[in-house]
Amino acid sequence: MHARHQAVLPDWLALYYQRPIEITHGEGRHVWDAEGKRYLDFFGGILTTMTAHALPEVSRAVAEQASRIIHSSTLYLNRPMVELAERIARLSGIPDARVFFTTSGTEANDTALLLASTHRRSNQVLAMRNSYHGRSFSAVGVTGNRGWSPTSLSPLHTLYVHGAVRGRGPFAALSDAEFTAACVADLEDVLGQVHGGVAALIAEPIQGVGGFTSPPDGLYARFREVLDRHGILWISDEVQTGWGRTGEHFWGWQAHAAAGPPDILTFAKGIGNGMSIGGVVARAEIMNCLDANSISTFGGSPVTMAAGLANLTHLLENDLQGNARRVGGLLIERLRAATAGLDAVREVRGRGLMIGVELVRPGGERAAPELASAVLEAAREDGLLIGKGGGHDTSVLRIAPPLSLTVAEAEEGAAILEAALTKAVAGARPDERRNAL
Ligand code: PMP
Repeated sequence: MHARHQAVLPDWLALYYQRPIEITHGEGRHVWDAEGKRYLDFFGGILTTMTAHALPEVSRAVAEQASRIIHSSTLYLNRPMVELAERIARLSGIPDARVFFTTSGTEANDTALLLASTHRRSNQVLAMRNSYHGRSFSAVGVTGNRGWSPTSLSPLHTLYVHGAVRGRGPFAALSDAEFTAACVADLEDVLGQVHGGVAALIAEPIQGVGGFTSPPDGLYARFREVLDRHGILWISDEVQTGWGRTGEHFWGWQAHAAAGPPDILTFAKGIGNGMSIGGVVARAEIMNCLDANSISTFGGSPVTMAAGLANLTHLLENDLQGNARRVGGLLIERLRAATAGLDAVREVRGRGLMIGVELVRPGGERAAPELASAVLEAAREDGLLIGKGGGHDTSVLRIAPPLSLTVAEAEEGAAILEAALTKAVAGARPDERRNAL
């Protein structure tokens, strides 16, 4: 299968693992490959499996809807789309909210940028350093993480600001309050140099692909004061942080609550539990600024909407946000304890079931992408799937299981990860190994 994949798919379609995995089926927090091997899934199919694999309610809803009709057209009324839109509008916290469905996170961000630039009559936008918002022409233009945006001849003029990553530079030693003040000053400084209006700031509340890095709580509230003064819209990209994944909050923006809801919120990934749903929520005044008939054929198709409704109902009725808080909290503690003696681990960070383990080379200063890959391989051998990401090369292990993870599964996964880290560090080249354990 791998050879056939290589022969017909693009070279840049990256695959994890030296011997890539072909997934055949799943159940709960587990998936199986074509060789019959079972894996505990700590990456939730890259966060697309929000609740559980093969959740019966979702499978049933999809089958029932598919047996009636699978068409897709926004030209006719569509009950599941209206019902899901009503529920998301209520949950969003945005007053007088309108919801527009797309098929992906990229398309959702594209639409958000289209709305903001049309509303503000400007193609200038602010984005965060180290960000990831997708790879369409405009999404690439607000993706600060260069490794993920190889071409950036974007139609937008983007200004990148500090806030999401403290990194190893001049900000490293600052307290949260000092860092926040420095970032606000940086934002003011950038805006002081701009000619004409700026449409929006687009930001992930916790950076996903960038390595699960968070700004200090409240940073976007402080940004909001500046943005409001300039009439700039705030777009919160909740593609990874939405639906209770962070445990404490339903949306990532709520960690900055004084800022109130964003002007525009984008979502995708988990809501469809694997079906392709993305979307944009905005106040009616912003959403309705487009002079267009319809901008997506497949967005809001009844089968995906039926999946989304069943999945959201399951999430809310079973308080999976609370589960993410409880089990995620235990998992973070367990991982911190397990890695406390490992010099190769710079930090275990995160919220709820969005946990990053940042790896470094001996001495602690440099990124360790080879080590991250070795940990992924070792964990896979022992039946655990995790992800990787990060701005400084790819040195952050990313853990984002389905939100129904049990305590026993968290314990099991943490033990496999601990063993994989130990094995990978021991297997590192001798010069890398010094001080690494
Ligand atoms: N925004 C964020 C924060 C993401 O993590 C991603 C996907 N990794 C996207 C947008 C793009 O979503 P999609 O791949 O569904 O287009």
